[in-house]
Amino acid sequence: MSTLHLYNSYTREKEKFEPSVPGHAGLYVCGPTVSGESHLGHARPYVTFDVVYRYLTQLGYKVRYVRNITDAGHFEEEGRDATDKVAEKAKLERLEPMELVQKYTNLFHWGMRLFNNIEPTIEPTATGHVIEQISMIEKIISEGYAYEVNGSVYFDVKKYAEKYPYGKLSGRKIDELLETTRELDGQEEKRNKVDFALWKKAPPEHIQRWNSPWGEGFPGWHIECSAMSSKYLGQVFDIHGGGMDLQFPHHESEIAQSTIAHGCTPVRYWMHNNMITINGKKMGKSYNNVIKITELMSGNHPLLEQAYHPMVIRFYILQTHYRSTLDFSNEALQASEKAFRRLWEAYELLQKMPAPTGTGSDKALNEKVTAFCNECGEFMNDDFNTAKVIASLFEMAPIINGIKGGQIAKDALSADTHKLMLETYKTYLVDVLGMQPMQAQQDGKIDKVLSLLVDIRKDAKTRKDYATSDLIRNKLAEAGVLLKDEKDGSVSWTIE
Ligand code: ZN
Repeated sequence: MSTLHLYNSYTREKEKFEPSVPGHAGLYVCGPTVSGESHLGHARPYVTFDVVYRYLTQLGYKVRYVRNITDAGHFEEEGRDATDKVAEKAKLERLEPMELVQKYTNLFHWGMRLFNNIEPTIEPTATGHVIEQISMIEKIISEGYAYEVNGSVYFDVKKYAEKYPYGKLSGRKIDELLETTRELDGQEEKRNKVDFALWKKAPPEHIQRWNSPWGEGFPGWHIECSAMSSKYLGQVFDIHGGGMDLQFPHHESEIAQSTIAHGCTPVRYWMHNNMITINGKKMGKSYNNVIKITELMSGNHPLLEQAYHPMVIRFYILQTHYRSTLDFSNEALQASEKAFRRLWEAYELLQKMPAPTGTGSDKALNEKVTAFCNECGEFMNDDFNTAKVIASLFEMAPIINGIKGGQIAKDALSADTHKLMLETYKTYLVDVLGMQPMQAQQDGKIDKVLSLLVDIRKDAKTRKDYATSDLIRNKLAEAGVLLKDEKDGSVSWTIE
Protein backbone atom coordinates (compact mmCIF):
# COMPACT_ATOMS: atom_id res chain seq x y z
CA MET A 1 0.00 0.00 0.00
CA SER A 2 1.42 3.35 -1.01
CA THR A 3 1.28 6.54 1.05
CA LEU A 4 -0.02 9.94 0.05
CA HIS A 5 2.22 11.92 -2.27
CA LEU A 6 1.32 15.35 -3.55
CA TYR A 7 2.77 17.76 -6.06
CA ASN A 8 4.33 20.73 -4.30
CA SER A 9 4.10 23.81 -6.54
CA TYR A 10 6.92 25.40 -4.55
CA THR A 11 9.51 22.69 -5.22
CA ARG A 12 7.82 21.52 -8.45
CA GLU A 13 8.14 17.95 -7.25
CA LYS A 14 5.84 15.23 -6.07
CA GLU A 15 6.57 14.77 -2.38
CA LYS A 16 5.51 12.38 0.34
CA PHE A 17 2.98 14.02 2.65
CA GLU A 18 4.41 14.28 6.13
CA PRO A 19 2.41 16.65 8.33
CA SER A 20 4.21 18.76 10.92
CA VAL A 21 2.16 17.19 13.72
CA PRO A 22 1.66 13.45 13.23
CA GLY A 23 -2.01 12.52 12.82
CA HIS A 24 -3.06 16.12 12.19
CA ALA A 25 -3.20 18.12 8.97
CA GLY A 26 -3.58 21.88 8.51
CA LEU A 27 -5.15 23.10 5.27
CA TYR A 28 -5.61 26.72 4.24
CA VAL A 29 -7.48 27.67 1.06
CA CYS A 30 -7.99 31.22 -0.22
CA GLY A 31 -11.71 31.88 -0.07
CA PRO A 32 -14.03 34.12 -2.06
CA THR A 33 -14.07 37.90 -2.31
CA VAL A 34 -17.69 38.56 -1.43
CA SER A 35 -18.14 41.73 -3.44
CA GLY A 36 -19.87 39.80 -6.22
CA GLU A 37 -21.29 36.44 -7.26
CA SER A 38 -19.13 33.34 -7.54
CA HIS A 39 -18.66 31.94 -11.02
CA LEU A 40 -17.59 28.68 -12.60
CA GLY A 41 -13.90 29.56 -12.16
CA HIS A 42 -14.47 29.57 -8.41
CA ALA A 43 -16.16 26.15 -8.42
CA ARG A 44 -12.98 24.30 -9.36
CA PRO A 45 -10.70 25.21 -6.43
CA TYR A 46 -13.48 24.68 -3.90
CA VAL A 47 -14.41 21.25 -5.28
CA THR A 48 -10.72 20.32 -5.63
CA PHE A 49 -9.83 21.22 -2.06
CA ASP A 50 -13.05 19.74 -0.72
CA VAL A 51 -11.79 16.40 -2.08
CA VAL A 52 -8.35 17.03 -0.54
CA TYR A 53 -10.06 17.67 2.81
CA ARG A 54 -12.28 14.61 2.44
CA TYR A 55 -9.37 12.35 1.50
CA LEU A 56 -7.11 13.53 4.32
CA THR A 57 -10.01 12.83 6.69
CA GLN A 58 -10.53 9.42 5.06
CA LEU A 59 -6.85 8.63 5.70
CA GLY A 60 -7.50 9.25 9.38
CA TYR A 61 -5.97 12.70 9.79
CA LYS A 62 -7.66 15.16 12.09
CA VAL A 63 -7.87 18.05 9.64
CA ARG A 64 -8.24 21.72 10.42
CA TYR A 65 -9.52 23.29 7.22
CA VAL A 66 -9.42 27.10 7.11
CA ARG A 67 -10.99 28.99 4.22
CA ASN A 68 -11.29 32.75 4.57
CA ILE A 69 -13.91 35.23 3.44
CA THR A 70 -12.45 38.38 1.87
CA ASP A 71 -14.94 40.99 2.99
CA ALA A 72 -12.60 43.98 3.25
CA GLY A 73 -12.34 45.01 -0.38
CA HIS A 74 -9.00 44.51 -2.05
CA PHE A 75 -7.56 45.70 -5.32
CA GLU A 76 -7.65 43.49 -8.34
CA GLU A 77 -4.95 45.68 -9.79
CA GLU A 78 -3.40 46.97 -6.66
CA GLY A 79 -3.26 50.75 -6.55
CA ARG A 80 -5.35 51.19 -9.71
CA ASP A 81 -7.53 53.60 -7.88
CA ALA A 82 -8.18 54.38 -4.29
CA THR A 83 -11.66 52.89 -4.30
CA ASP A 84 -12.59 49.91 -2.25
CA LYS A 85 -14.33 47.35 -4.45
CA VAL A 86 -16.85 46.47 -1.76
CA ALA A 87 -17.64 50.12 -1.07
CA GLU A 88 -17.95 50.93 -4.76
CA LYS A 89 -20.42 48.14 -5.46
CA ALA A 90 -22.35 48.95 -2.30
CA LYS A 91 -23.01 52.46 -3.49
CA LEU A 92 -24.21 51.19 -6.85
CA GLU A 93 -26.62 48.77 -5.26
CA ARG A 94 -27.54 51.13 -2.42
CA LEU A 95 -26.74 48.60 0.24
CA GLU A 96 -24.66 48.91 3.35
CA PRO A 97 -21.25 47.30 2.73
CA MET A 98 -21.92 44.63 5.34
CA GLU A 99 -25.33 43.97 3.79
CA LEU A 100 -23.67 43.38 0.45
CA VAL A 101 -21.01 41.20 2.04
CA GLN A 102 -23.73 39.16 3.77
CA LYS A 103 -25.71 38.76 0.54
CA TYR A 104 -22.79 37.41 -1.43
CA THR A 105 -21.52 35.32 1.49
CA ASN A 106 -24.95 33.66 1.71
CA LEU A 107 -24.98 33.12 -2.03
CA PHE A 108 -21.50 31.60 -1.88
CA HIS A 109 -22.53 29.22 0.90
CA TRP A 110 -25.63 28.24 -1.09
CA GLY A 111 -23.37 27.35 -4.04
CA MET A 112 -21.00 25.36 -1.82
CA ARG A 113 -23.92 23.32 -0.42
CA LEU A 114 -25.20 22.60 -3.92
CA PHE A 115 -21.80 21.22 -4.87
CA ASN A 116 -21.86 19.15 -1.66
CA ASN A 117 -18.67 20.78 -0.41
CA ILE A 118 -18.18 20.21 3.31
CA GLU A 119 -17.92 23.44 5.32
CA PRO A 120 -14.41 24.37 6.41
CA THR A 121 -13.70 23.92 10.10
CA ILE A 122 -12.92 27.64 10.42
CA GLU A 123 -14.12 30.35 8.05
CA PRO A 124 -12.49 33.57 9.25
CA THR A 125 -13.33 36.97 7.78
CA ALA A 126 -10.83 39.70 6.93
CA THR A 127 -12.92 42.32 8.73
CA GLY A 128 -12.84 40.20 11.89
CA HIS A 129 -9.03 40.06 11.88
CA VAL A 130 -7.93 43.64 11.32
CA ILE A 131 -6.09 43.71 14.68
CA GLU A 132 -4.06 40.62 13.73
CA GLN A 133 -3.23 42.18 10.36
CA ILE A 134 -2.11 45.47 11.96
CA SER A 135 0.19 43.71 14.42
CA MET A 136 1.73 41.65 11.62
CA ILE A 137 2.37 44.83 9.61
CA GLU A 138 3.99 46.45 12.67
CA LYS A 139 6.31 43.47 12.97
CA ILE A 140 7.31 43.71 9.31
CA ILE A 141 8.04 47.45 9.74
CA SER A 142 10.14 46.78 12.83
CA GLU A 143 12.13 44.16 10.89
CA GLY A 144 12.87 46.85 8.30
CA TYR A 145 10.98 45.33 5.36
CA ALA A 146 8.06 47.74 5.17
CA TYR A 147 7.76 51.51 5.16
CA GLU A 148 5.02 54.04 5.76
CA VAL A 149 4.28 56.84 3.31
CA ASN A 150 1.42 59.25 3.81
CA GLY A 151 -0.74 56.87 5.84
CA SER A 152 -0.13 53.82 3.65
CA VAL A 153 2.34 50.99 4.32
CA TYR A 154 4.21 49.12 1.59
CA PHE A 155 6.31 45.97 1.62
CA ASP A 156 9.85 46.49 0.36
CA VAL A 157 10.06 43.71 -2.24
CA LYS A 158 13.48 44.67 -3.61
CA LYS A 159 15.10 44.54 -0.19
CA TYR A 160 13.40 41.21 0.52
CA ALA A 161 14.58 39.76 -2.79
CA GLU A 162 18.20 40.56 -1.92
CA LYS A 163 18.10 38.00 0.86
CA TYR A 164 15.21 35.63 0.11
CA PRO A 165 14.13 33.68 -3.01
CA TYR A 166 11.33 36.04 -4.07
CA GLY A 167 9.58 34.67 -7.17
CA LYS A 168 10.43 31.01 -6.49
CA LEU A 169 6.80 29.91 -6.28
CA SER A 170 5.51 31.72 -9.35
CA GLY A 171 8.70 31.50 -11.42
CA ARG A 172 9.02 35.31 -11.62
CA LYS A 173 12.39 37.06 -11.68
CA ILE A 174 12.78 40.18 -9.55
CA ASP A 175 14.94 41.96 -12.17
CA GLU A 176 12.29 41.47 -14.82
CA LEU A 177 9.52 42.53 -12.43
CA LEU A 178 11.39 45.73 -11.58
CA GLU A 179 11.52 46.46 -15.31
CA THR A 180 8.08 45.40 -16.44
CA THR A 181 5.65 46.19 -13.62
CA ARG A 182 3.18 48.76 -14.93
CA GLU A 183 2.96 52.27 -13.58
CA LEU A 184 -0.16 52.53 -11.48
CA ASP A 185 -1.75 55.19 -9.34
CA GLY A 186 -0.08 55.51 -5.98
CA GLN A 187 3.26 54.49 -7.47
CA GLU A 188 4.90 57.73 -6.48
CA GLU A 189 4.58 56.61 -2.86
CA LYS A 190 6.45 53.37 -3.42
CA ARG A 191 10.19 52.88 -3.41
CA ASN A 192 9.82 50.39 -6.27
CA LYS A 193 6.97 49.50 -8.57
CA VAL A 194 6.95 45.88 -7.33
CA ASP A 195 6.24 46.89 -3.73
CA PHE A 196 2.78 45.94 -2.57
CA ALA A 197 0.43 47.57 -0.07
CA LEU A 198 0.10 46.13 3.42
CA TRP A 199 -2.14 48.99 4.52
CA LYS A 200 -3.85 51.70 2.51
CA LYS A 201 -4.90 55.10 3.72
CA ALA A 202 -8.68 55.47 3.30
CA PRO A 203 -9.81 58.46 1.23
CA PRO A 204 -12.70 60.44 2.78
CA GLU A 205 -15.44 58.71 0.74
CA HIS A 206 -14.21 55.25 1.66
CA ILE A 207 -16.82 53.48 3.82
CA GLN A 208 -14.83 50.56 5.22
CA ARG A 209 -12.11 52.03 7.45
CA TRP A 210 -10.28 51.17 10.62
CA ASN A 211 -7.98 53.04 12.99
CA SER A 212 -4.34 52.08 12.79
CA PRO A 213 -0.95 53.41 13.90
CA TRP A 214 -0.80 55.02 10.43
CA GLY A 215 -4.21 56.70 10.55
CA GLU A 216 -7.58 55.54 9.23
CA GLY A 217 -7.35 52.99 6.46
CA PHE A 218 -7.88 49.38 5.43
CA PRO A 219 -5.64 46.33 5.01
CA GLY A 220 -4.13 45.14 1.74
CA TRP A 221 -5.41 41.86 0.35
CA HIS A 222 -2.35 39.63 0.83
CA ILE A 223 -1.86 40.33 4.52
CA GLU A 224 -5.25 38.89 5.53
CA CYS A 225 -4.32 35.37 4.41
CA SER A 226 -0.94 35.52 6.18
CA ALA A 227 -2.53 36.80 9.39
CA MET A 228 -5.40 34.31 9.44
CA SER A 229 -3.45 31.23 8.34
CA SER A 230 -0.79 31.75 11.00
CA LYS A 231 -3.40 32.52 13.66
CA TYR A 232 -5.31 29.28 13.16
CA LEU A 233 -2.75 26.87 11.70
CA GLY A 234 0.56 28.10 13.10
CA GLN A 235 3.51 29.94 11.61
CA VAL A 236 4.45 26.85 9.60
CA PHE A 237 1.51 24.79 8.37
CA ASP A 238 0.99 21.84 6.06
CA ILE A 239 -0.99 22.65 2.92
CA HIS A 240 -1.91 25.95 1.30
CA GLY A 241 -4.22 25.68 -1.67
CA GLY A 242 -5.71 27.93 -4.30
CA GLY A 243 -6.07 28.49 -8.02
CA MET A 244 -2.93 28.88 -10.16
CA ASP A 245 -3.92 32.47 -10.87
CA LEU A 246 -3.27 33.27 -7.20
CA GLN A 247 0.42 32.27 -7.30
CA PHE A 248 1.39 35.79 -8.30
CA PRO A 249 1.23 38.23 -6.70
CA HIS A 250 -1.00 36.89 -3.90
CA HIS A 251 0.83 33.77 -2.71
CA GLU A 252 4.27 35.13 -3.49
CA SER A 253 3.41 38.11 -1.26
CA GLU A 254 2.04 35.83 1.48
CA ILE A 255 5.36 33.98 1.58
CA ALA A 256 7.34 37.24 1.79
CA GLN A 257 5.19 38.74 4.57
CA SER A 258 5.16 35.61 6.70
CA THR A 259 8.88 34.95 6.21
CA ILE A 260 9.71 38.38 7.62
CA ALA A 261 7.06 38.49 10.34
CA HIS A 262 7.70 34.97 11.64
CA GLY A 263 11.25 34.23 10.54
CA CYS A 264 10.30 31.04 8.69
CA THR A 265 8.75 29.96 5.39
CA PRO A 266 5.08 29.50 6.17
CA VAL A 267 3.91 26.56 4.05
CA ARG A 268 5.22 23.01 3.68
CA TYR A 269 3.20 22.06 0.60
CA TRP A 270 1.68 24.48 -1.90
CA MET A 271 -1.10 23.08 -4.07
CA HIS A 272 -2.57 24.89 -7.07
CA ASN A 273 -5.40 23.81 -9.32
CA ASN A 274 -5.24 24.66 -13.01
CA MET A 275 -7.66 26.99 -14.76
CA ILE A 276 -10.99 26.46 -16.47
CA THR A 277 -11.43 27.40 -20.12
CA ILE A 278 -14.77 27.75 -21.89
CA ASN A 279 -15.02 26.35 -25.41
CA GLY A 280 -11.23 26.53 -25.52
CA LYS A 281 -11.07 30.17 -24.46
CA LYS A 282 -9.75 31.63 -21.25
CA MET A 283 -12.62 32.72 -19.03
CA GLY A 284 -12.81 36.48 -18.60
CA LYS A 285 -15.04 39.50 -18.76
CA SER A 286 -13.42 40.57 -22.05
CA TYR A 287 -14.54 37.29 -23.67
CA ASN A 288 -18.04 37.69 -22.30
CA ASN A 289 -17.91 34.10 -21.08
CA VAL A 290 -17.98 34.38 -17.32
CA ILE A 291 -20.73 31.99 -16.19
CA LYS A 292 -22.03 32.57 -12.67
CA ILE A 293 -23.02 29.62 -10.47
CA THR A 294 -26.65 30.82 -10.48
CA GLU A 295 -26.57 30.87 -14.31
CA LEU A 296 -25.19 27.34 -14.44
CA MET A 297 -28.06 26.12 -12.27
CA SER A 298 -30.72 27.94 -14.29
CA GLY A 299 -29.17 27.47 -17.74
CA ASN A 300 -29.76 31.16 -18.25
CA HIS A 301 -26.61 32.19 -20.14
CA PRO A 302 -26.07 32.56 -23.91
CA LEU A 303 -23.34 29.90 -23.86
CA LEU A 304 -25.48 27.30 -22.08
CA GLU A 305 -27.85 24.97 -23.94
CA GLN A 306 -29.46 23.79 -20.70
CA ALA A 307 -29.27 23.97 -16.92
CA TYR A 308 -26.68 21.65 -15.38
CA HIS A 309 -27.10 19.85 -12.11
CA PRO A 310 -24.38 20.75 -9.58
CA MET A 311 -23.48 17.06 -9.27
CA VAL A 312 -22.81 16.96 -13.01
CA ILE A 313 -20.47 19.93 -12.70
CA ARG A 314 -18.75 18.39 -9.69
CA PHE A 315 -18.35 15.09 -11.54
CA TYR A 316 -17.03 16.85 -14.62
CA ILE A 317 -14.45 18.76 -12.55
CA LEU A 318 -13.29 15.54 -10.89
CA GLN A 319 -13.04 13.63 -14.17
CA THR A 320 -9.90 15.66 -14.89
CA HIS A 321 -6.83 15.80 -12.66
CA TYR A 322 -6.76 19.11 -10.81
CA ARG A 323 -3.41 20.16 -12.31
CA SER A 324 -4.65 19.85 -15.92
CA THR A 325 -6.64 22.54 -17.67
CA LEU A 326 -10.34 21.85 -17.89
CA ASP A 327 -12.42 22.97 -20.85
CA PHE A 328 -16.14 23.56 -20.42
CA SER A 329 -18.53 22.98 -23.29
CA ASN A 330 -22.13 21.84 -23.53
CA GLU A 331 -21.06 18.59 -25.24
CA ALA A 332 -18.57 17.78 -22.49
CA LEU A 333 -21.09 18.49 -19.72
CA GLN A 334 -23.80 16.47 -21.42
CA ALA A 335 -21.39 13.54 -21.78
CA SER A 336 -20.53 13.90 -18.11
CA GLU A 337 -24.20 13.88 -17.15
CA LYS A 338 -24.72 10.56 -18.96
CA ALA A 339 -21.58 9.10 -17.47
CA PHE A 340 -22.50 10.09 -13.94
CA ARG A 341 -26.00 8.66 -14.30
CA ARG A 342 -24.53 5.36 -15.53
CA LEU A 343 -22.08 5.18 -12.67
CA TRP A 344 -24.64 6.08 -10.01
CA GLU A 345 -27.12 3.55 -11.40
CA ALA A 346 -24.46 0.85 -11.13
CA TYR A 347 -23.86 1.84 -7.50
CA GLU A 348 -27.59 1.71 -6.75
CA LEU A 349 -27.87 -1.71 -8.38
CA LEU A 350 -24.93 -2.93 -6.34
CA GLN A 351 -26.56 -1.73 -3.10
CA LYS A 352 -29.80 -3.56 -3.88
CA MET A 353 -28.14 -6.75 -5.10
CA PRO A 354 -28.28 -9.75 -2.72
CA ALA A 355 -24.77 -10.42 -1.48
CA PRO A 356 -23.28 -13.74 -2.62
CA THR A 357 -22.38 -16.15 0.15
CA GLY A 358 -19.78 -18.41 -1.47
CA THR A 359 -16.11 -18.14 -2.32
CA GLY A 360 -16.77 -17.06 -5.93
CA SER A 361 -16.94 -19.30 -9.00
CA ASP A 362 -14.90 -17.01 -11.27
CA LYS A 363 -11.41 -16.63 -9.83
CA ALA A 364 -10.15 -14.31 -12.60
CA LEU A 365 -13.12 -11.98 -12.20
CA ASN A 366 -12.59 -11.80 -8.43
CA GLU A 367 -8.95 -10.87 -8.96
CA LYS A 368 -9.92 -8.26 -11.51
CA VAL A 369 -12.49 -6.59 -9.24
CA THR A 370 -10.11 -6.68 -6.27
CA ALA A 371 -7.45 -4.96 -8.38
CA PHE A 372 -9.88 -2.21 -9.48
CA CYS A 373 -10.84 -1.61 -5.85
CA ASN A 374 -7.26 -1.45 -4.59
CA GLU A 375 -6.27 0.92 -7.38
CA CYS A 376 -8.62 3.62 -6.06
CA GLY A 377 -6.47 4.25 -2.99
CA GLU A 378 -3.29 4.09 -5.04
CA PHE A 379 -4.63 6.73 -7.43
CA MET A 380 -5.73 9.06 -4.64
CA ASN A 381 -2.31 8.67 -3.03
CA ASP A 382 -0.76 9.73 -6.31
CA ASP A 383 -1.47 13.46 -6.00
CA PHE A 384 -5.26 13.06 -5.66
CA ASN A 385 -5.84 11.55 -9.09
CA THR A 386 -9.64 11.62 -9.04
CA ALA A 387 -9.78 11.08 -12.81
CA LYS A 388 -8.23 7.63 -12.48
CA VAL A 389 -10.41 6.74 -9.47
CA ILE A 390 -13.51 7.47 -11.55
CA ALA A 391 -12.10 5.35 -14.40
CA SER A 392 -11.62 2.41 -12.00
CA LEU A 393 -15.15 2.73 -10.66
CA PHE A 394 -16.38 2.74 -14.26
CA GLU A 395 -14.52 -0.49 -14.97
CA MET A 396 -16.70 -2.24 -12.40
CA ALA A 397 -20.03 -0.92 -13.75
CA PRO A 398 -20.36 -3.51 -16.57
CA ILE A 399 -19.60 -6.28 -14.07
CA ILE A 400 -22.43 -5.09 -11.79
CA ASN A 401 -24.78 -4.76 -14.78
CA GLY A 402 -23.69 -8.20 -16.02
CA ILE A 403 -24.55 -9.87 -12.70
CA LYS A 404 -27.89 -8.10 -12.61
CA GLY A 405 -28.68 -8.99 -16.23
CA GLY A 406 -27.64 -12.61 -15.85
CA GLN A 407 -24.69 -12.51 -18.29
CA ILE A 408 -22.42 -13.09 -15.31
CA ALA A 409 -23.26 -15.86 -12.84
CA LYS A 410 -24.80 -14.72 -9.54
CA ASP A 411 -22.14 -16.66 -7.60
CA ALA A 412 -19.22 -15.44 -9.77
CA LEU A 413 -17.96 -13.10 -7.08
CA SER A 414 -17.09 -14.21 -3.58
CA ALA A 415 -18.82 -12.69 -0.54
CA ASP A 416 -15.57 -10.85 0.27
CA THR A 417 -15.12 -9.39 -3.22
CA HIS A 418 -18.73 -8.24 -3.31
CA LYS A 419 -18.28 -6.54 0.06
CA LEU A 420 -15.02 -4.92 -1.06
CA MET A 421 -16.69 -3.58 -4.20
CA LEU A 422 -19.58 -2.13 -2.21
CA GLU A 423 -17.19 -0.51 0.28
CA THR A 424 -15.05 0.90 -2.52
CA TYR A 425 -18.01 2.61 -4.19
CA LYS A 426 -19.20 4.01 -0.88
CA THR A 427 -15.74 5.18 0.21
CA TYR A 428 -14.57 6.71 -3.05
CA LEU A 429 -17.68 7.77 -4.95
CA VAL A 430 -19.63 9.04 -1.92
CA ASP A 431 -17.17 9.86 0.89
CA VAL A 432 -14.05 10.96 -1.01
CA LEU A 433 -15.38 12.33 -4.31
CA GLY A 434 -18.45 13.66 -2.48
CA MET A 435 -20.99 12.59 -5.10
CA GLN A 436 -24.71 12.48 -4.29
CA PRO A 437 -27.68 11.29 -6.31
CA MET A 438 -29.18 13.99 -8.48
CA GLN A 439 -32.14 15.54 -6.66
CA ALA A 440 -34.35 15.08 -9.72
CA GLN A 441 -34.33 11.35 -9.11
CA GLN A 442 -35.91 11.95 -5.71
CA ASP A 443 -38.51 14.57 -6.61
CA GLY A 444 -41.08 11.97 -7.61
CA LYS A 445 -40.68 10.26 -4.27
CA ILE A 446 -41.19 13.49 -2.31
CA ASP A 447 -44.40 14.19 -4.24
CA LYS A 448 -45.73 10.74 -3.38
CA VAL A 449 -44.96 11.22 0.31
CA LEU A 450 -46.61 14.66 0.34
CA SER A 451 -49.73 13.32 -1.43
CA LEU A 452 -49.99 10.69 1.27
CA LEU A 453 -49.73 13.30 4.06
CA VAL A 454 -52.33 15.51 2.36
CA ASP A 455 -54.71 12.54 2.15
CA ILE A 456 -54.21 11.71 5.84
CA ARG A 457 -54.87 15.36 6.75
CA LYS A 458 -58.03 15.45 4.63
CA ASP A 459 -59.23 12.30 6.31
CA ALA A 460 -58.53 13.79 9.76
CA LYS A 461 -60.48 16.95 8.88
CA THR A 462 -63.44 14.89 7.70
CA ARG A 463 -63.43 13.16 11.09
CA LYS A 464 -63.17 16.63 12.75
CA ASP A 465 -59.79 15.56 14.16
CA TYR A 466 -58.35 19.09 13.86
CA ALA A 467 -55.45 18.33 16.21
CA THR A 468 -54.02 15.89 13.67
CA SER A 469 -54.75 18.03 10.61
CA ASP A 470 -53.11 21.07 12.23
CA LEU A 471 -50.14 19.01 13.37
CA ILE A 472 -49.49 17.88 9.79
CA ARG A 473 -49.80 21.42 8.42
CA ASN A 474 -47.54 22.94 11.11
CA LYS A 475 -44.85 20.29 11.01
CA LEU A 476 -44.69 20.51 7.23
CA ALA A 477 -44.43 24.32 7.46
CA GLU A 478 -41.53 23.91 9.89
CA ALA A 479 -39.84 21.71 7.30
CA GLY A 480 -40.36 24.40 4.67
CA VAL A 481 -43.36 22.80 2.93
CA LEU A 482 -46.36 25.14 2.79
CA LEU A 483 -49.80 23.64 2.19
CA LYS A 484 -52.48 25.72 0.51
CA ASP A 485 -56.17 24.86 0.56
CA GLU A 486 -57.56 25.70 -2.88
CA LYS A 487 -61.15 26.88 -3.46
CA ASP A 488 -62.11 23.64 -5.21
CA GLY A 489 -61.22 21.65 -2.11
CA SER A 490 -57.91 20.36 -3.43
CA VAL A 491 -54.61 21.03 -1.68
CA SER A 492 -51.45 22.32 -3.32
CA TRP A 493 -48.01 22.80 -1.80
CA THR A 494 -44.85 24.81 -2.26
CA ILE A 495 -41.42 23.75 -1.05
CA GLU A 496 -39.26 26.63 0.15
ZN1 ZN B 1 -5.31 34.16 0.05
